[in-house]
Amino acid sequence: AEEVGGGDKEVVREYFNNSGFQRWKKIYGVTDEVNRVQRDIRLGHSKTVENTVKMLKDEGSLEGLTVCDAGCGTGSLSIPLAQEGAVVFATDISAAMVAEAQKQAKEQIVTGEDGSGPVMPKFEVKDLESLEGKYDTVVCLDVLIHYPQSKADGMIAHLASLANKRLILSFAPKTFYYDLLKRVGELFPGPSKATRAYLHSEADVETALHKVGWTISKRGLITTQFYFARLIEAVPI
Ligand code: SAM
Repeated sequence: AEEVGGGDKEVVREYFNNSGFQRWKKIYGVTDEVNRVQRDIRLGHSKTVENTVKMLKDEGSLEGLTVCDAGCGTGSLSIPLAQEGAVVFATDISAAMVAEAQKQAKEQIVTGEDGSGPVMPKFEVKDLESLEGKYDTVVCLDVLIHYPQSKADGMIAHLASLANKRLILSFAPKTFYYDLLKRVGELFPGPSKATRAYLHSEADVETALHKVGWTISKRGLITTQFYFARLIEAVPI
């Protein structure tokens, strides 16, 4: 049974514009001092980004490839993709996140004065449900964790409808072990537990993709001590 009504999105937006922004900006950064758990999550997340770039590059050069980074956060993926020559459209529900991503992109991406070299990503404040258009590739990393499967199904279908060639998703896998860890965590909520975390089973995600005529073409698993992510690439059948 689903325990949540319609309010997830507003709660998530509010969180990622305030305390969640402060927390995740630190974790996704490289310079801020973080504690041991946060350092472990930073490492796990950076591996997810790295593996995503690798999945994309396995299919050839990223030069000119159009990519939609849905729920871009501070730009951890958008920036390296742009540096590889991709034309990136990046959006996030949180205005604070988008502002930070924009700042970091300006600091890190060197564009040629004559219009040569990388293209600056285009950032916009937008929830993924209102995304429109068509992209070669749509990527959505570590966003589904904020939504129950009943909502995730629709989000997956919508993201697939925007992609011509492939969709890359990462989510916290609902395995027995991790489910148990999470339940233990809920019995003893710590101060950092500010939003609910939803786990997704790979089978449920696969079913949602099949319903809209897509299938999983690559699978990866990223685990550190405190970070677990299933990374999948899907393509139209
Ligand atoms: N994808 C980024 C990355 O991997 O570095 C950020 C991951 S962070 C855990 C989750 C992000 O999803 C936050 O920046 C949050 O604001 C965004 N988000 C949550 N719900 C969203 C929605 N419905 N539409 C767009 N962005 C959303």
